[in-house]
Amino acid sequence: MKIRGRLIIAFLIMTLFPIVITLLTVHFILNKQSDMLTESYRITQKNYSSLDIVLNPVSFIYNITFSDYTNLKSVTKQTPDKLLDKSYLEEKNQKLVQKDSFLVVVRNGKYYYIGNKNALNKISYVPIAEQYKETSNHLTYIDQKSSTIIKETTFLFSDRTAGQAFLITDFSKLMPRWENSLREMLLAFFVILLTTGGFLTIWIYESIVRPLNILRLATMQIGAGNLDKPVRNSSSDEIGQLCHDFDDMRIRLKNMVEESIAAEENIREIMSSISHDLKTPITAIKGYTEGILDGVADSPEKQKKYLQTIYAKANDITYLIDELSLFSKVECNSLVYNFISLNLEEYFSDCISDVSLDLESKNITIEYTNLTDKDTKVLVDGEQLKRVLHNIIDNAAKYIDKPNGHISVTITDVPPKPVVPPLYRQINDDGTDLVPIHAPDEFVQVKITDNGPGIAAKDLPHIFERFYRADASRNSSKRGSGIGLAIVKVIISEHGGNVWAESIEGVGSSFYFTLKKDTLTNNNI
Ligand code: ADP
Repeated sequence: MKIRGRLIIAFLIMTLFPIVITLLTVHFILNKQSDMLTESYRITQKNYSSLDIVLNPVSFIYNITFSDYTNLKSVTKQTPDKLLDKSYLEEKNQKLVQKDSFLVVVRNGKYYYIGNKNALNKISYVPIAEQYKETSNHLTYIDQKSSTIIKETTFLFSDRTAGQAFLITDFSKLMPRWENSLREMLLAFFVILLTTGGFLTIWIYESIVRPLNILRLATMQIGAGNLDKPVRNSSSDEIGQLCHDFDDMRIRLKNMVEESIAAEENIREIMSSISHDLKTPITAIKGYTEGILDGVADSPEKQKKYLQTIYAKANDITYLIDELSLFSKVECNSLVYNFISLNLEEYFSDCISDVSLDLESKNITIEYTNLTDKDTKVLVDGEQLKRVLHNIIDNAAKYIDKPNGHISVTITDVPPKPVVPPLYRQINDDGTDLVPIHAPDEFVQVKITDNGPGIAAKDLPHIFERFYRADASRNSSKRGSGIGLAIVKVIISEHGGNVWAESIEGVGSSFYFTLKKDTLTNNNI
């Protein structure tokens, strides 16, 4: 889930959940309290709601003795003299005690019966009347000092004496219960709020802060140069995506570092092999020169032989230095190209005859086939292209491991790619195309195949990388720097062509490259 969705859910839970749960809890507490009160005050007629205990406590207190008061009033109306019967009054009072209430009967302005003297003394004012007034025959009021509710009814006994009956309820014990209920509700509210907040905090922590911490640690690891530890996070939110991208970056960095380490290692190896290659002819030159100077070469023939060897060794050094300087030029992109239109057939047959003599001396035959039109022209830099051919053919000759080496060079046309016509042709006023359809570039393909040892599949994708030498060549005695094919690749891509290789181990290798035809000159012919 996305962080936005999570925040919305968190907001809803934080606001709605505590409200709903608190309301349910309050409802439950009030119901429980109301049931307990109903039971303890033995209220039979439940004509108030549980919320009344909080919202309308007066109504609740009033209702505690509601039925008793109604009974009392009917007794005063129908059989008032019953209230002169002390045992009847005692019995009635006993029932009222359970409801924290008591009965008081007044006759002719004097107390006739007092159900609870102590409680009566605490009441600040009891309206005792000496005479019966029909207009005010019942009254209910609350005495704040003693926390009592007093219900009064006036009547006449059968002998016409004035009577008053008081039903007094002490509600002071209710207060702690209400306070208790309120405390319970507040406590429930805080518990709910804290629990909801706690769960939300854990949820947000787990989904946002923990992955951020993982990311922070990963950043520190990368900062310290440790690129091996993957950043794991399976969530699909923005942070999960960030972790995923971060891990991609780590892998790329790791590859880059590994590549640069490998390249450095290669350069070190090449440097040591080049210095070794340089040292060998120099030592030989020194030796032969000393031989001449010391008079070891005492005959003119011997001296000539020594000098020829010195010359050959000096040539080796020149070759190596040329390789190195060419490589530095390629590295700095400072090779200058001079593209001219050359006849393909003439150019290649010259090149092949240049190398064939040297190859013959190594017992290698070279076969040349040109299947393109003999007038085909290509746009190339003759010098650089010669380097390409020499590098590939020299490699073939160098690595061939069979007694009868064979190299074949085949040139073919590359069929042009079909042009997709535009959906709508836009035409100028003069009827010509606004966006003229350019004919695609046409290419020829040069294939150079040898019957050498072939290249291992694991090495094949890398042979055009600079300083790359396959394990087999590295371990062999064949001299090499690993830059010959890298130079080939740069030169061919500067010509607008492609270069690639195919190989079967033990059978041989084929190198392919393409060259752009000079279509303008070709068409003019
Ligand atoms: P090197 O100086 O080592 O020949 P190159 O860049 O010319 O460097 O070639 C890179 C690697 O490709 C060589 O080390 C060798 O392993 C492999 N290679 C190139 N040409 C051939 C071939 N014709 N036959 C077998 N292996 C080859």
